[in-house]
Amino acid sequence: MSFTLAIVGRPNVGKSTLFNRLVGKRLALVDNTPGVTRDLREGDARLGDLKFIVIDSAGLELAEDESLQGRMRRLTERAVEEADICLFLVDARVGVTPADEIFADILRRKNAHVILAANKAEGHAGDAGAMEAWSLGLGEPLRISAEHGEGLDDLYAVLKPLADEFAAARAADLPETDVEIEEGDEDEEPAYQPPSAAKPLQLAVIGRPNAGKSTLINKILGEDRLLTGPEAGITRDAISVTADFMGTPMRIWDTAGMRKKAKVNDKLEKLSVADGLRAVRFAEVVVVLLDVNIPFEQQDLRIADFAETEGRAVVVAANKWDLEEDKPEKLKELREAFERLLPQLRGAPLVTVSAKTGKGLDRLHNAILKAHEIWNRRISTAKLNNWLVAMTEAHPPPAPGGRRIKLRYITQAKTRPPAFVIKATHTDKIPESYGRYLVNGLRDDFDMPGTPIRIYFRDQG
Ligand code: GDP
Ligand code: GDP
Repeated sequence: MSFTLAIVGRPNVGKSTLFNRLVGKRLALVDNTPGVTRDLREGDARLGDLKFIVIDSAGLELAEDESLQGRMRRLTERAVEEADICLFLVDARVGVTPADEIFADILRRKNAHVILAANKAEGHAGDAGAMEAWSLGLGEPLRISAEHGEGLDDLYAVLKPLADEFAAARAADLPETDVEIEEGDEDEEPAYQPPSAAKPLQLAVIGRPNAGKSTLINKILGEDRLLTGPEAGITRDAISVTADFMGTPMRIWDTAGMRKKAKVNDKLEKLSVADGLRAVRFAEVVVVLLDVNIPFEQQDLRIADFAETEGRAVVVAANKWDLEEDKPEKLKELREAFERLLPQLRGAPLVTVSAKTGKGLDRLHNAILKAHEIWNRRISTAKLNNWLVAMTEAHPPPAPGGRRIKLRYITQAKTRPPAFVIKATHTDKIPESYGRYLVNGLRDDFDMPGTPIRIYFRDQG
């Protein structure tokens, strides 16, 4: 991720439409339903070969003691603070309004790096309005149409040189998903790099509707950035917010991009589960949130399994612990169920929390950090090979047809999650059970509970 772009402007100029276009339909969701509340949401955007984070500042939900204008101003200021560049939209069909001028003022005062664009400029309907936008004193307005995807090449041309500037300064933000296995032989165990403001820990909170995801995230954020309600299924598309969780910078991917307190229509409803799982792809650590009253149901198991399959570090958190009366007994039950139902996550932390009261959040924080560290763990080739010798001596691989499989050499190919390559003979004959023996051995001997561990066998004559 090279930079962060905030889309700002008064309501109805097309911020969300542009956001959705940049992020892609699969992640975001446009809806005209009145009452769908929105707040700062972030997504991973693509424009040509540019990849960046985009923030939509369309915030239509009013806090009780807040005017629409007050809230817009607050959200805009926050978006500006979080972004490297602001894309200031005006409506080319309407022309410049007093509200636009207020926004221009905020941007000027905040000394933001501004790109001005007149939206809804498809055809010639927006010609006059686009001209008028010069009067904002923010340079030449780009003419774009978010809805029709026009003018995006001009936007690209303006962003590209800026992106190059930022790219040098910023490291990649997204966790690798499909990494080529490289055989490195450098014999180092680099120190763990804790999350930083430039590289926040990418966290997803997933779980079934009503598990308490938004309550938890609100608690972590310490401010009412997301809204919660008692109805099941108010979850929306995947969004993220950045937070300082007990001193650790995190970007939290949630499945609750848009929330509302009113009834939910079907179209919104259907997208939510898949979107929740999609948030996993952005995450390094996934918190699988259970409702302690109904833990480890089929849906929870699928969600946890998905996170493991995707190679994410998993922390299981049992929420609503404040409601539990016999805590020791319940905890025992939970642990038993966890081991029985999710053997693939052996050793993953199980913590109890109350999102509502905030109790246990310190445990959750520590578990997340620890999981992140393990997920990033690198073990030296020398240690690994000593270990491999011991493992094969303790329990030699089978000898199919009288020809013994030889495991000759092991190295860690990558981290996030830890993956290992073993050079061996007759790799096609290595039974799965032997692979599991090795994975469990790595897990135990190098203290890597909970994280997915991959072993790849490579033939070597
Ligand atoms: P926001 O409040 O700034 O997020 O605005 P929305 O993205 O919700 O858009 C407000 C309205 O403008 C919606 O009805 C959109 O369909 C419409 N709109 C957005 N972009 C364009 C555009 O490029 N051309 C036209 N004609 N309409 C657009
Ligand atoms: P989501 O659908 O997973 O985002 O769930 P919400 O955060 O909207 O929470 C669903 C319901 O559970 C709401 O009524 C919350 O107040 C309630 N809830 C969430 N966390 C807790 C908790 O720790 N304890 C109790 N007693 N209730 C909770």
